[in-house]
Amino acid sequence: MKDGFVISDDENISDEDIKQINKFTKRVLKKSEVYVFSMILCDNEVDREYEKFTVKSLEKLSNLFVGKTGILDHDAKAEKQLARIFSCKIENLKTKNSVGENYCRLVAKAYIPRTKNTEDFIMQIDSGIKKEVSVRCLMGKNLCCICGDNINLCEHKKGKIYSVGNQKVLCHSILENPIDAYEWSFVAVPTQVSAGVIKESSNGKFQNELEIIDKIKLESSKNGNKNFGKLIKKLEDKVKIGQNYIDEMKDEVFKFLSFSEPQIERKVIKKMTDSLDFDELKNFRKVIKSKNLPFYSQFVNENEQISQKKISEFKI
Ligand SMILES: [Zn+2]
Repeated sequence: MKDGFVISDDENISDEDIKQINKFTKRVLKKSEVYVFSMILCDNEVDREYEKFTVKSLEKLSNLFVGKTGILDHDAKAEKQLARIFSCKIENLKTKNSVGENYCRLVAKAYIPRTKNTEDFIMQIDSGIKKEVSVRCLMGKNLCCICGDNINLCEHKKGKIYSVGNQKVLCHSILENPIDAYEWSFVAVPTQVSAGVIKESSNGKFQNELEIIDKIKLESSKNGNKNFGKLIKKLEDKVKIGQNYIDEMKDEVFKFLSFSEPQIERKVIKKMTDSLDFDELKNFRKVIKSKNLPFYSQFVNENEQISQKKISEFKI
């Protein structure tokens, strides 16, 4: 779904509601002391980031979101924690989503204590100014709808159309196995592209700069800005050239250390070289150059074990 939103403000508070609310309060509150509203947190529709929750995920999220406080613009400062979800349920609307499944949504009820400090905020919800919400949660799986593999590792790209049999399928990812629901937030500028449901995936974190560029490309293609697309392509090329250069340096350092420190396991050396930053690699390179050793030809294959004989021939 694109945006969560408030669907009902200033609700009548049932006995069950106040019982649930009082589980989270320091003292027992009366119905007149709280303001209650309902909102849709997320659903099983493909959203603007080409991601989709399963119904099972929504069910699990419904447990995870109970007790979570709502904040403003995902700013977790205490004074901005205004409302708390006290109950969640899945609503099964008798319509279909865009991929032909029964459309389901996660509806939450939240309360705000009625105090001088919250008066204005309650008024903003009542008047519809504070309407859009977004959620943040950690998902265990982010799977490709075409091949079923991890979407970050397979060949398919979210938002692209693929032919599967006789059908054209919009590639999106399927979010499964929620691990945690961090927070939900009122979004100040709901018209922004970035507003809406914000999700994170434990295996969906950016692994490198190119993944970030892919994400920017996806967003810019939706805005149809061609010039921006060209600039992003240039940036992508530069990142690739830079990455190649760094990889080459790492390779040299790896070979050098494998050669000069044969008693250290190669996988340990690999781990070490992978962790070096650009300046450290440059430093190493200087040392390697100063040694002026013809050892590169000895290492045809990184995985090949170096024989002790060869090493002794080139001992530094
Ligand atoms: Zn795939």
